[in-house]
Amino acid sequence: MSEKKQLRQIAIYGKGGIGKSTTTQNLTAGLAESGKNVMVVGCDPKADSTRLLLGGLAQKTVLDTLRTSGDATELSNIMRIGFHGTKCVESGGPEPGVGCAGRGIITSIGLLERLGAYTDDLDYVFYDVLGDVVCGGFAMPIREGKAKEIYIVASGEMMALYAANNISKGIAKYARTGGVRIGGIICNSRNVDRELELLKAFAEELGTQLIYFVPRDNVVQRAEIHRKTVIEYSPEVKQAQEYRALAKAIDENTMFTIPKPMSQERLEEILMEHGLMDAIEDYHI
Ligand code: ADP
Ligand code: MG
Repeated sequence: MSEKKQLRQIAIYGKGGIGKSTTTQNLTAGLAESGKNVMVVGCDPKADSTRLLLGGLAQKTVLDTLRTSGDATELSNIMRIGFHGTKCVESGGPEPGVGCAGRGIITSIGLLERLGAYTDDLDYVFYDVLGDVVCGGFAMPIREGKAKEIYIVASGEMMALYAANNISKGIAKYARTGGVRIGGIICNSRNVDRELELLKAFAEELGTQLIYFVPRDNVVQRAEIHRKTVIEYSPEVKQAQEYRALAKAIDENTMFTIPKPMSQERLEEILMEHGLMDAIEDYHI
């Protein structure tokens, strides 16, 4: 007898280049490996959100497919099966500089719904969304209550925290009108001085938690060159265990809050109290 599962739809936000796609694919590989049924929807015009799960870039994005086949396409044309049965979709985007880059997301979610991609046996859908702010098409996964749960990937670098705070402003706005909540900050370490302490303080000030601290490790690059997640490429290494532990932390998370974005002044104060600025001041002495 198949029972309807409680589907969790999760959006991953964070500054460009911070490690959203790498972290999302490694943690979904961990979830899939533990028996969860997972779909990953890439919401970045770069269309590289599922490369490591698929063993190479998806040949066609949803927008590409629509351009050639129109709306009458089949699910198998836009959704491919990757590592451990993960379902992989890339929204794609318009030609650079033409129209709203977030349009692909709106189109993709609509099409996935019409083609019946959100099946009852799914445990998780992850939306890997680019950007320093939550606006326009990029707000789509959370705007209409599709994704009710958000994690922000950040590091101890000031610009990453600045972006995380800005993203929180967008989340807070949609949380007031809809049911979206933040589930935590994922630190993807850049080996900044006192990074753990800084990220904990930042998360607490934001009214959320540091859900996991992912170390920086070159095995991530080695796996990436081979078009694989660390979990697939080197299942025994420490970094693979880190991603499994992150997957478990998300799977077991019960802390969902409305973020309280801070002022630029307060953010800088926290940086001074806990992290970077001390190092900078030491340097000037
Ligand atoms: P985003 O999706 O946020 O733009 P990516 O996931 O593409 O960022 O990550 C950018 C680069 O950072 C990748 O090429 C990846 O190799 C590297 N990277 C991400 N996380 C780690 C990590 N924990 N350790 C080492 N390198 C990492
Ligand atoms: Mg990415």
